[in-house]
Amino acid sequence: SFKRAHNFNAGPAALPLAALQKAQEELLDFNGTGMSVMELSHRSKDYEAVHNRAIGLLKELLAIPENYDVLFLQGGASLQFAMVPLNFLPAGKKAGYVMTGSWSEKAYAEAEKLGEVFVAASAKEGNYRRIPATEELKYGSDAAYLHITSNNTIFGTQWQDFPDTGDVPMIADMSSDILSRPFDVSKFGLIYAGAQKNLGPAGVTVVIIRHDLLDQANKKVPTMLKYGTYAKDNSLYNTPPTFSIYMVKLMLEWVKEQGGVAAIYKRNQEKAALIYETIDASNGFYVGHAQPDARSLMNVTFRLANEELEKKFLDTAKKSGFVGLNGHRSVGGCRASIYNAVPYESCAALRDLMVSFRKENG
Ligand code: PMP
Repeated sequence: SFKRAHNFNAGPAALPLAALQKAQEELLDFNGTGMSVMELSHRSKDYEAVHNRAIGLLKELLAIPENYDVLFLQGGASLQFAMVPLNFLPAGKKAGYVMTGSWSEKAYAEAEKLGEVFVAASAKEGNYRRIPATEELKYGSDAAYLHITSNNTIFGTQWQDFPDTGDVPMIADMSSDILSRPFDVSKFGLIYAGAQKNLGPAGVTVVIIRHDLLDQANKKVPTMLKYGTYAKDNSLYNTPPTFSIYMVKLMLEWVKEQGGVAAIYKRNQEKAALIYETIDASNGFYVGHAQPDARSLMNVTFRLANEELEKKFLDTAKKSGFVGLNGHRSVGGCRASIYNAVPYESCAALRDLMVSFRKENG
């Protein structure tokens, strides 16, 4: 017997119980091999089947068009901040960045070391409460690419619809909301995401890349920093993070069993509504950080009247078995990260806690 926590960690985050149990079941003897997936050669048929199944499931679940490849890399989303400009920001061109939070700032800062960049729009004024409107985006048709952060993990804002960028490739950091809702992959040149929020455990980064970008990429990039290396060898040029990819496969199988991304999206909306409605009905006891039209379905950020009351709330939550509700160390306050694998029941339990805490302290 075991007791699962109400896990609101921002990443690494909750995984589906069914995926963990499957991994447990298969741990000592995977598919009759007499060993775990961790112990398999990455060149074996058994591992290759896992690898290709993970890629195939992601293509199916996100309806990824034929002219895109799915790649598995390491180094986290943070390495993508450098790999994107290394591959796609040639001398004489400029890349535009839409600033919607700390992770956009980090992506911009990394690109600035490698080439010419500009801010295409920014929501920094007002402390990243909103997402710039499409009309605010300023970039020329000669821009190398336009970079956006689809979900802002720290501030709790999320793009509601994506712009059409025409011939300028749109590149998105989707680390904290990939697979949480359906979207049109064909609007993007490249999408990247660290797996440890919505896709699986830490250790693998997923990249979805359009073929024409691969063709245009800078050739003089070290082997392991070049997307082409991964595309050419089906992400098996060197040893990939096999166990992480196996867990991604199990998580994708779970998403499929839930009814796919459309069904997950519906549940994510219901989960987030439980908490946002509690904030909105609290008469200002809880104050949401994001503007209502920019609210994230993945990271719900809110404050209480003062830090003392926030501390009391977080202490009460901790005593009741809730984990990970403190805001990011850079902004404080409270944050509930409610990625795909966080159960509805945990969100309902959080709502109940927020209601009773307000009754006792309001
Ligand atoms: N981008 C976003 C939107 C994130 O939320 C994070 C991690 N919280 C990162 C990038 C950095 O990811 P990693 O730790 O995988 O480098």
